[in-house]
Amino acid sequence: MEAIQAGKPVLLVFIWDTEVEAHPDTSERHWQFQWESIVEMNETLGDLGGKLHVIRGKADEIFHELLNEHRIDSVYSYCETGVITTFKRDLRLKKLFAERGVNWREYQNNGVVRGLNNRIAWDKKWKVHMNAAVDDPDWENASFVQLSKTCFAPSFARKNNLQKGGEKQAHRYLKSFFKDRYSAYSRHISKPVQSRKSCSRLSPYLAWGNLSIRQVYRAAAEKYNEEGVQKRPLANFISRIHWHCHFIQKFEMEVRMERENLNRGYDSIRNRTDEALVDAWKTGKTGYPMVDAAMRCVIETGYINFRLRAMLVSFLTHNLWQPWQSGVHHLAKQFTDYEPGIHYPQFQMQAGTTGINTIRIYNPTKLAQDHDPEAKFILQWLPELKVLPVHLAIEPWKITPMEEMMYGFSYGTDYPRRIVDITTTSKFARDELWKIKTANSVRSESQRILKKHTTATRDVDQRTREITPKGKR
Ligand SMILES: Cc1cc2nc3c(=O)[nH]c(=O)nc-3n(C[C@H](O)[C@H](O)[C@H](O)COP(=O)(O)OP(=O)(O)OC[C@H]3O[C@@H](n4cnc5c(N)ncnc54)[C@H](O)[C@@H]3O)c2cc1C
Repeated sequence: MEAIQAGKPVLLVFIWDTEVEAHPDTSERHWQFQWESIVEMNETLGDLGGKLHVIRGKADEIFHELLNEHRIDSVYSYCETGVITTFKRDLRLKKLFAERGVNWREYQNNGVVRGLNNRIAWDKKWKVHMNAAVDDPDWENASFVQLSKTCFAPSFARKNNLQKGGEKQAHRYLKSFFKDRYSAYSRHISKPVQSRKSCSRLSPYLAWGNLSIRQVYRAAAEKYNEEGVQKRPLANFISRIHWHCHFIQKFEMEVRMERENLNRGYDSIRNRTDEALVDAWKTGKTGYPMVDAAMRCVIETGYINFRLRAMLVSFLTHNLWQPWQSGVHHLAKQFTDYEPGIHYPQFQMQAGTTGINTIRIYNPTKLAQDHDPEAKFILQWLPELKVLPVHLAIEPWKITPMEEMMYGFSYGTDYPRRIVDITTTSKFARDELWKIKTANSVRSESQRILKKHTTATRDVDQRTREITPKGKR
């Protein structure tokens, strides 16, 4: 919009960044989603005489070439909160643009503010940003430049289970959520099956930019203000919209948490990786049906709800006692909605390496009994358990030799035995984590983190209650 308003010819470019492609958290489903979005954008732009040019390569090399071939006055982009690699790329681009006299104008694209050292007044800024009008570019008066060279055009073998990219799809989800799906939002948010319909499912569209968080916030606020609507689910939803930016802001301010413990006091624990245990987790073969079903479901569909994501991390880090780094890329690759600014801070929060959040060790069996009591989710993803009655599908280790014969099921062959015992491993993890939480190294880091990432200064537990979603999830 700003480029069009500047009144100069505009060249629209999407960089298919090979550095990002090579990053271990990237997967084909992320690119497919972006490609579908680009194709749709180009259909719309075609009617306006424009085109989004897709160029594959290293960003600095692409810009070198573009700057040599064209007289470029300004580059317009959003502020991106990415990983360390893209942060370094942006520093290189900043240098390049400065050397070549190009004005790089970066715009805030959600509630995340660049260059902050603390959270004082952040909430206020967030509200101002969310309540500002949604801009409407003057497309009719745009003068587009077309590159003569051929653009990059990948092809994908589409997996139909994955959400499809594109702005039209995004608006479909938005519309149907506020039409009726929202009403069961709070009731179903933790249910593995029902949450797939009653949660908004807007996450990939927010992560890849088909919708802005402001568009979603404003649609929710508008709905909330209608007469006769159910306020509670809408209020719960709006709080998640706030969390979205809260987490990304953390990552923006401390990107080292992509690789290191946010709280350095935890550096002394979980330093060894047992590949066999991590592999069983990655492939959904831990012997705990809820863990395995969640993993196999996310591999197939790119989506599971918050509680299942948290449970998977809890199982890996607490029950298997593996470093969170051993699984963080695997899940990032599976999520169609992968958003580094939410993913890394959430992963660390669930792994208990922040020092400021309540440590939560999920019991996958209880989770199944509470939220999937008929084992519908488990049986959908673990069809090998279908021969068993529900209670055994949830706890197959309780099967007796007689029942094995009766159901024609061989425990340990048809479905793996438990790789750990969650009662003893949960106790071990709880003891270790509570012990270290009181160590000076963790405490001093916790104070530093609170000061930097929250508005609290004194009471760790009080703030913890505020920033840890309790009860609902
Ligand atoms: C280990 C772990 C990793 C996660 N990784 C991602 C990720 O890569 N990308 C991602 O978008 N979300 C991530 N989440 C947060 C959350 O699980 C998803 O945002 C949510 O399940 C997406 O479904 P939805 O759009 O239907 O959510 P809804 O419940 O409908 O919420 C609407 C939006 O609010 C935001 N939101 C919801 N819950 C959270 C939360 N707990 N923290 C921050 N923002 C939230 C998301 O943008 C979401 O799209 C992660 C959570 C955990 C525990």
